[in-house]
Amino acid sequence: LHNDVVDLRGQIRVVVRVRPMLRSEVETSVSAIEYPTINSIIVNQGSKSSGAMTFEKVFTPIFTQSQVFCEIEDFILSALHGYNVGLIAFGQTGSGKTHTMRGGDGENEGIIPRAASFLFSASKQLEATGWQFQFSLSFLEIYNNEAYDLLNNHNVVKLRLVKETVSLDGLSEHPLKKQSDMAVLLRTADSNRKTASTKCNEYSSRSHAIYMWKIKAEQKSTGISTNSVLKLVDLAGSERAKESGVVGQQFKEMTNINQSLSVLQKCVSMQKSKSSHVPYRDSKLTQVLMDCLGRGNSKTMVMVNITPCEEQATESKRSIEFAAKMRDT
Ligand code: ADP
Ligand code: MG
Repeated sequence: LHNDVVDLRGQIRVVVRVRPMLRSEVETSVSAIEYPTINSIIVNQGSKSSGAMTFEKVFTPIFTQSQVFCEIEDFILSALHGYNVGLIAFGQTGSGKTHTMRGGDGENEGIIPRAASFLFSASKQLEATGWQFQFSLSFLEIYNNEAYDLLNNHNVVKLRLVKETVSLDGLSEHPLKKQSDMAVLLRTADSNRKTASTKCNEYSSRSHAIYMWKIKAEQKSTGISTNSVLKLVDLAGSERAKESGVVGQQFKEMTNINQSLSVLQKCVSMQKSKSSHVPYRDSKLTQVLMDCLGRGNSKTMVMVNITPCEEQATESKRSIEFAAKMRDT
């Protein structure tokens, strides 16, 4: 059923998650967001309001991490069925992207660690039908249009376009044999991101983190095998810095982020409208995501994260408009 629905709707969907107000915000801010019907949303900006916009799913602030995962589980499962799957968290800094993707401990765990336990148990069930799976992981970061290995000393990774695919030279691959391997790899990646951020304040919100799984499925009796990928992405913050006064390194960062996010949006839109020339090559981000951005055997979900706070309504509205652009084409 799930795949039938996907085939009807196309392979790219856009969902929205609104985080709750933080304790520090409750006293000083009010919510700018309304939910007129299930899965629709209004952003109020002073006296102006955006008009209701409907998405495939709107996760209101009451959704827990586990409820969010429950809703996207089938989508993640497609990766075991041979699809290339990409799940991309978009939004301004502070909107909840890292919470959604990486999350905290226990019930606060995000999609990445949950996907690991889920795929392990799902693969065990499929083993009963004669399939066997091998997983391997690579974590990559893109900062200032340069790619780095998050599981090997933050080494530089070179991207090379080979026909319709991209090869990632120097990126380490780590077999995932048991679920607990994931925790170890995530800790390594976290510490590599942290070390990088001591060199540049706010580094992690200015870089894209991409958690990649390679999945090999084999059915011994028939000799059939498939290779697929799952890419879980925590994008750099989408906020527009005030252009005046931003110079040097910060200006370069800002330009690179704006460029990669706008290329991403273009690629998703053009892919959806079945355009023949999709500009994947125009940024490293889209090169890395090329195989799971709605082409051929792939499925993409963009999760747009927003904050509820009134002071941030302008950015929230921009994010929702970005979401709507991807949804509509
Ligand atoms: P981003 O990665 O987009 O910059 P974060 O994920 O770091 O944003 O979230 C900003 C703050 O909001 C963090 O303190 C985070 O713990 C909190 N937060 C985000 N989403 C939620 C949520 N759904 N429930 C509770 N706290 C959240
Ligand atoms: Mg973050």
